[in-house]
Amino acid sequence: MNALDQQLLDVAFRALRPRRETRQERMLSYGIPPHMLDGLERYLVQRIKPGSFLQAVLRGDLVMAAQLADPANADRLQSYVDYLTAECPEECWGSPEAMRHWLAGPDYPCYACGRESTHEIRHRGDWLDACDACDVRGER
Ligand SMILES: [Zn+2]
Repeated sequence: MNALDQQLLDVAFRALRPRRETRQERMLSYGIPPHMLDGLERYLVQRIKPGSFLQAVLRGDLVMAAQLADPANADRLQSYVDYLTAECPEECWGSPEAMRHWLAGPDYPCYACGRESTHEIRHRGDWLDACDACDVRGER
């Protein structure tokens, strides 16, 4: 095999290797319209309040969501339900309380990642809230 063959093989392998889909690509695969991806991702990742249609979807008020839907969203309510059910933490959607609580943020955010902590760790004479994933020392 010469050098060019090897190069072509490398390119082919790179093209064929499965790539992890992004969150927005997952949303698209459920049929969520492209103009909704940023708003939904901001809600899920940064806990930023979305527009009124998405708020209705997220608090489980599908009648209101149907009334507020633009033409692209009108026949896609099932896509949101499927995506939320399959891929989103259940504490962030499904009722007005869940949405309010999600937007308010974690009660005791982990010092490192910001997610809800599970316990405290001792650090330089102080106590820090930490989650299991970030508490590499396993100290309780
Ligand atoms: Zn953490």
